[in-house]
Amino acid sequence: MKKTFAEKLVCPIDKHELKLTVFTTDIGNNIQEGIFTCAECRRYYPIVYGVPIMSPDEYRQAQLELPLIQRWEKELNGKLEKGFLLVENNEVDQ
Ligand SMILES: [Zn+2]
Repeated sequence: MKKTFAEKLVCPIDKHELKLTVFTTDIGNNIQEGIFTCAECRRYYPIVYGVPIMSPDEYRQAQLELPLIQRWEKELNGKLEKGFLLVENNEVDQ
């Protein structure tokens, strides 16, 4: 996915601007893996194989996305997923 395209995307839930964090790019500098986060509703939207996953919550499957969030743990500064939101460690019931 081209960065110029990624910068045009907004949160599908509330239409607020998204913060883009890129983890890996290909040789053409296209985004391969990364994550969008919405400061308004705190949802996250992963980018996998260059494709952003921006479906409404009811069409998302947490168990498919959890391995990504765990693999990106370091890049996400220890934030965890909770109902498609990225939350601080101390906001999750252990
Ligand atoms: Zn949002």
